[in-house]
Amino acid sequence: MGVKVAKFGGSSVADAIQLAKVKSIVEGDPERKYVVVSAPGKRFSGDSKITDLLYLCKTHIDHNVAYDQVFQVVCDRYRAIELNLGVNVGLEEEFRIIDENLQKGASADYIASRGEYLTAKLTAAYLGLEFVDTAGLVQFDKHGKFLNEETNRALKEALAGVDGAVLPGFYGSVPDGSIKTFSRGGSDITGALVARAVEADIYENWTDVSGFLMADPRVVKDPIPIEIITYVELRELSYMGAGVLHEDAIYPARAGNIPINIRNTNDPQHPGTIIVGDIDEPAGKSKVITGIAGHKDFTVISIYKNMMSGEAGFVRRILSVLEDYGVVVEHLPSGIDTLSVVLANKNLNGKLEEITEEIRRRLQPDRMEVFENMALIATVGRGMARRMGVSATLFTALYNAGVNIRMIDQGSSEMNIIVGVENSDFEKAVRAIYEAFVE
Ligand code: ASP
Repeated sequence: MGVKVAKFGGSSVADAIQLAKVKSIVEGDPERKYVVVSAPGKRFSGDSKITDLLYLCKTHIDHNVAYDQVFQVVCDRYRAIELNLGVNVGLEEEFRIIDENLQKGASADYIASRGEYLTAKLTAAYLGLEFVDTAGLVQFDKHGKFLNEETNRALKEALAGVDGAVLPGFYGSVPDGSIKTFSRGGSDITGALVARAVEADIYENWTDVSGFLMADPRVVKDPIPIEIITYVELRELSYMGAGVLHEDAIYPARAGNIPINIRNTNDPQHPGTIIVGDIDEPAGKSKVITGIAGHKDFTVISIYKNMMSGEAGFVRRILSVLEDYGVVVEHLPSGIDTLSVVLANKNLNGKLEEITEEIRRRLQPDRMEVFENMALIATVGRGMARRMGVSATLFTALYNAGVNIRMIDQGSSEMNIIVGVENSDFEKAVRAIYEAFVE
């Protein structure tokens, strides 16, 4: 019999109604032996996530403001879940310990981690599975650096004799035993780590969407779902699009060669999207494009200087200005005597003017142009490589839609074409590309 690891995100464990769905999913397949949970997320728009409330307790304490009301909101949500599930995990004693630690100055990581800890306790009792704490198993060094192989070994050993368990996501510990969390959304990583450790056949990531769609549904009406996608394609798309999956969850799954299946707890019949390392498909049989993603609000600084290409260190000097300001470069399209840098506005921290001034001072360009309203759109597909006419289709579609292309960048993997258009043309451009390839 195979083994599956099922990770349930915040919306899947938001309340007892959602947890009943979790139970029927887990019990619906005997291969689903290991369950990883997030902390309860929003039940409706405007609701609060438990993790946010826990961080808020810590902020109150740090500012010497009473935190008990916020803490009570957290406790009440767990009490309601315990009551409605009809289990008893000794919540009051758990709350007392957490509160005591809070008063003793517990860290933000500790308090945030209690969200998944309590959820895993409740879920384990409800599913009749063992609770296995990830503190001590998911390991970080004393500087907080995640220890991959040590974690793999520890999880393997701890789960070897356990035929079914619920583990809290999001956190582990440092050598002295203190709790350390991953970045936000990190339960996805824990799920992938557990999948790797138990050599799962598949890592199911249960959330509130049925996998990935070929384009943003706010831009394209009813986009087609993506059935299968490679890790590399996903990386290209997630760089621009909203992330359903934490990026760092990919590495452990990849290391263990385990496919990730994004599934919807509210629509468990839907097959969702499968993310794999490689797809064994006959050449030319795959879809030409897998997905389209993009973002508004990039700035392009174009620099013109006669004989620039003959000047040693020119590119390095531009990059060093940006480095001095801590700004990451997204793209670097170049011509013989021109060079442009594409930067995300959110990374500029209001320093655009200073940066351009500094470039002018250090590089003495003949001319410089700044364009602040650019959107980037990535069209991604493993099926693009060695196929003729892909860029022709894309550019014709944009031309027919009346979209002016301000930048083109094709990755050397021949798996993506990135175009820069004006912010105001963004939606029109995405729709035109989608229609050209899909409809
Ligand atoms: N509960 C944590 C967060 O909200 C981790 C997670 O859900 O994956 O970020």
